[in-house]
Amino acid sequence: MHFRTRAIHVGNEPDPATGAVVPPIHVTSTFVQPGAGQWGQFDYSRSGNPTRKALETTLADLESGCGALAFASGMAAIHCATLLLRPGDHILAGSDIYGGAYRLFHKIAAPAGIEVSLAPSSDLEAFQAAFRPNTRLVWIETPGNPLLSISDIAACAELAHRHGALLGVDNTLATPVLTRPLELGADIVMHSATKYLGGHSDLLGGALIVKAPELWKRLYFIQNATGAVMGPWEAFLCSRGLKTLEIRVTEQCRTAAGLAAYLAKDRRVARVLYPGLPNHPGHALAARQMHGQFGAMVSFEVAGDLEAAKRLVQSTKLFSLAVSLGAVESLIEQPALMSHASYDRADRLAHGIADGLVRLSVGLEHPEDLQADLDQALALAVP
Ligand code: PLP
Repeated sequence: MHFRTRAIHVGNEPDPATGAVVPPIHVTSTFVQPGAGQWGQFDYSRSGNPTRKALETTLADLESGCGALAFASGMAAIHCATLLLRPGDHILAGSDIYGGAYRLFHKIAAPAGIEVSLAPSSDLEAFQAAFRPNTRLVWIETPGNPLLSISDIAACAELAHRHGALLGVDNTLATPVLTRPLELGADIVMHSATKYLGGHSDLLGGALIVKAPELWKRLYFIQNATGAVMGPWEAFLCSRGLKTLEIRVTEQCRTAAGLAAYLAKDRRVARVLYPGLPNHPGHALAARQMHGQFGAMVSFEVAGDLEAAKRLVQSTKLFSLAVSLGAVESLIEQPALMSHASYDRADRLAHGIADGLVRLSVGLEHPEDLQADLDQALALAVP
């Protein structure tokens, strides 16, 4: 069956007890057991809940995995993956990753004895040189955040495996509509379900999806032991969001491509970072890896300084000034002051996140309205 059909039907079977087409939300912490010492399918909602299970079933299917785990947030999901490591192990992360992942690796994993280093995963030679004998987890994001760099997942998987490491891919920006890392050799796919999977800015959640049952069991043990599970209400909202994922992402990508082309021609814009533009360094790879579309995130540098970019992000009316991404509502943010403020400035600049960088999350509004909004804000920001 096609992706869109599976997103609607897998994990969402009608309720056998009542015939309800939409499965009920199981708001319960615990479950009655058939007898003392006898266990049913569910016993306690930290260990498993039918509504969460339904979502995990859909996610595993859409990402071509053997199983999924749903978490309270994307960060909880990444944290769970890092708990696979032991003191003395090394995480090699791509340099274009979400600021929160950067902070987790450096401020939580490193003090626990894990070595952490970053290298550009879009430059395979540089990335390969950054492996250490103790590298056990490689963590990449493609498209990267916020520079929208493109990394070759199959090549990174090959490198990771050659060095005895697992490859984890944060697939939040691409979504399984555009990229399915497990099919390309990755071991773990991670999502901030808060973003495209939910799609409506109304839930916080995360997910890990894997293809090896053994790895799923290890991650499940950690999740159950540490407890950062997704609640049933969020799981329901996310399952509901998934039903329209393909149609939303497809349309949002189309609008994003149009806006990127418009910005690329504007003299008030110094440069546009969008993998769909032929001059983007990752364009050819993205064309192969992303199933024909290039994502709904567009980053660009204003022809001006930090203050000009600040004026811009504060002047849009339809693009709300907010971190996060991936919903039907368009958002705008300034990474230097917002999503990537947890980077040291020197590190941030070294990684190409300029003061004047602006990141758009393109939603489902009409493309002409969004373009007009950017146009009036650019007029105020760069007179
Ligand atoms: N990964 C990416 C690419 C993100 O954009 C985010 C959040 O912005 C996260 C991970 C963290 O997810 P959450 O905010 O759901 O904890």
